[in-house]
Amino acid sequence: MQKQRTFDEITLITAQADMTAAIHGGRAKCLQRLVRLDMPVPTTVALTFGAVRRIANGQLPDIAEILNHFGPEPLVSVRPSSQDPDWGGPGAVLNIGMCDARHASLCQQLGEAAATSLYLRFIFAYATEVARLGADRFELPDCPDRAALDRALAAYEEEMDEPFPQDPARQLSDVLNSMARAWEGTTARLLREAKGAPADAGLGLVVQAMSLGVGRGECGSGVIQFIDGTTGQRRVTGRYLSQSQGREALTAESGALYLTRDPRGLSLEEAHPATFATLVDYGARTRTRLKEEMEIEFTVEDGQLSILDAVRVPRNSQAAVRIAVDLTEDNIIRPEEAVMRIQPQTLSELLHQQVDPRAVRDVITRGIAASPGGARGRIVFSATDAQAAASRGESCILVRRETTPEDIRGMHAAAAVLTIRGGVTSHAAVIGRGLGLPCVVGASQLRIDRKKAAIIAPDGRRFAEGETITVDGTTGEVLAGEPPMLEAAIDGAFGTLLDWADRFRDIGVRANADTPADAQTARNFAAEGIGLCRTEHMFFEGERLSLMREMIFADTPEDRKAVLARLLPMQRADFIELFQIMAGHPVCIRLFDPPLHEFLPADKSGIRELADLLNLPLADVTARVEALEEYNPMLGLRGVRLGVTVPEIYEMQARAIFEATIAASRKGEAVVPEIMIPLVSAMREVELVKNRIDAVAVNVHNMTGATFDYRLGVMVETPRAALRAGDIALHSSFLSFGTNDLTQMTYGLSRDDAGRFMSTYVQKGVYEEDPFHTLDLEGVGELLTIGAERARATRPEITLSICGEHGGSRSAIAFSRQRGLNYVSCSPFRVPLARLAAAQIALSDRG
Ligand code: PEP
Ligand code: MG
Repeated sequence: MQKQRTFDEITLITAQADMTAAIHGGRAKCLQRLVRLDMPVPTTVALTFGAVRRIANGQLPDIAEILNHFGPEPLVSVRPSSQDPDWGGPGAVLNIGMCDARHASLCQQLGEAAATSLYLRFIFAYATEVARLGADRFELPDCPDRAALDRALAAYEEEMDEPFPQDPARQLSDVLNSMARAWEGTTARLLREAKGAPADAGLGLVVQAMSLGVGRGECGSGVIQFIDGTTGQRRVTGRYLSQSQGREALTAESGALYLTRDPRGLSLEEAHPATFATLVDYGARTRTRLKEEMEIEFTVEDGQLSILDAVRVPRNSQAAVRIAVDLTEDNIIRPEEAVMRIQPQTLSELLHQQVDPRAVRDVITRGIAASPGGARGRIVFSATDAQAAASRGESCILVRRETTPEDIRGMHAAAAVLTIRGGVTSHAAVIGRGLGLPCVVGASQLRIDRKKAAIIAPDGRRFAEGETITVDGTTGEVLAGEPPMLEAAIDGAFGTLLDWADRFRDIGVRANADTPADAQTARNFAAEGIGLCRTEHMFFEGERLSLMREMIFADTPEDRKAVLARLLPMQRADFIELFQIMAGHPVCIRLFDPPLHEFLPADKSGIRELADLLNLPLADVTARVEALEEYNPMLGLRGVRLGVTVPEIYEMQARAIFEATIAASRKGEAVVPEIMIPLVSAMREVELVKNRIDAVAVNVHNMTGATFDYRLGVMVETPRAALRAGDIALHSSFLSFGTNDLTQMTYGLSRDDAGRFMSTYVQKGVYEEDPFHTLDLEGVGELLTIGAERARATRPEITLSICGEHGGSRSAIAFSRQRGLNYVSCSPFRVPLARLAAAQIALSDRG
């Protein structure tokens, strides 16, 4: 058995001290690195996580041992040191050790004003942070004189019924106690857990000799960084303030110096060039040796520079990517490390405009964050109004109970979509992600008042049609008014990072793309092909919708074929365009999937219009619409069941695909289309459809004389198809797992209705996560595993993939890779995230 390393509770930070971030925290470890870089770090002692946990339980360490490091008249600060600095911690407490005696000696040393200011600062920090007294009686006075000091000491005594503690050991014990307890508090725990900290994350503390920023000669404190945390560009920023401590320079209303020369005022570079030059040198050293952009906290005491602390420069996603790429290009880190440093989800912030995280938010309601990005616009309630607004050049938010395929054009026209119903795989969510359109779904607490054309917030506020709201699809919030936005920021660094990611990943990434615009986005994001083209979306456009309806109302197969013949050239043109955009990359076209009823009007006026169009009696049309209604359309006559019972539709689509293949191959690289059959549950379905499609291929070949190849595959989205993947594979050159329907059918849970109760289910721990959002590895995953194994057993060379909405998520990618799937396919805007996540998974696997 490996021997556990033991660490002393109290460690003086030296270059050789035995320390690690996992035991002493990130700040302590970083201070040791600064010491190793020969920086003037004041004497510092680190307490381990274990020591701080014991303090919280009432067991103090040897305070005398700590204070021994700081001489007979100690004056110290205490700062938190959590494992990951992003997890936060209690605020620093400075000037511990200030007491009447120390005040008297410092009056001699530094002058009375400086000494009194230090004492007052400590009384105030101790009173508010340790004794938890109200801050109102303990504000720093403008003039820190003896009278102010007496008032502060009296106020403390009055509130606490005891004089201000004079013993530095007692002061330090109290500070350590209060910081250790604060870390264990519920609010602090929840805050750090929200940042990804484990429930039992530890806190270390560092006790450091004060380097006073106040006193005789040039004294002050400041903060410097060498990178812009918003853009990632190299730029010196920060402030320095004479006669100050901590981070006061950053908040000072006046008197603070810029660091580098600045037209707005005096700078440290001009006032104290040697100090500035040393800081610049330290910045360069931290960058190359710590392999990070650090923000350095420093003090000047009678002209002497001290480095108190350094933390990673806080940064947004754009800066994070740029910094990682620049460090790599300067040979400071390797591309592997740059790839590992960026959280894939943060990339989505770069792809979309976002609500500025610093903005004040007036939240109307919350729903499910279904498609990231922020957008603002006027409220509209119908697809037609959205199109009208777009034609006037107005930005609008389409608000619907739920969207249906008929809303597609309105969604294209809208800046964002908000629905009352639905979950992460509902129509609005899927289309929103495909279009890169911010989308919040399942905002079930919002009501639509149709008569008065308004939405009513849970708190009773009304927002009328035409009023401006903002949809934040990243957080799931709907906001009143127009908070400030941050622009999308895809720059060269973004592309470079993803090119590196592609070097390391070992699973393919394709896109789900239905339109030429989607396909173009997919190519721009370097998708390796289209993994799912949902062809039904092509039939909702103007004239095509009318033709679809005519086709549905056709009385005989001949009549149906005649209408389909008019749709054929349109489909062919769609496919030619897709093949051309994808330029030789594979395109997987899924044959028609939804129930026909979706193409029929839902209301009376629509039925009337349809009767006019078809020149049929209203009663006939109404009867036909009713006859097509199903109790459970998602489990009814759709997918391959239509292919078997109304074969003319698939035949038309196959012909369009083959003719487009011939046309596109003439102009560019030979196209090998992939044709995918949806909703299969039995091998015989595949046989029947395959026979027909093969026959169409022979016919197209005979008519044109052209030769072409194609691949036929099956979408595995019913549990039975997964179980019978072995025999289904006999007739398929590829299988793609449609995890949306597969999840729906495995759970027996409607993907369009689950949003109503999903949050309760997740809150109560019935499901760990929404299974439409996070692939259920246990149940749906088992079906995937069985399907993949059985398919490979009968056809080892078969291509396997997943193409549901899960395809872009890290856990689904890791799972697919582990099961030997060839690629994942996801919405175009998730392609960059998937490429990065896939690379990180492969790199982590290498160890
Ligand atoms: C699926 O069911 O997983 C799928 C990709 O198809 P759709 O979302 O169109 O039903
Ligand atoms: Mg499906």
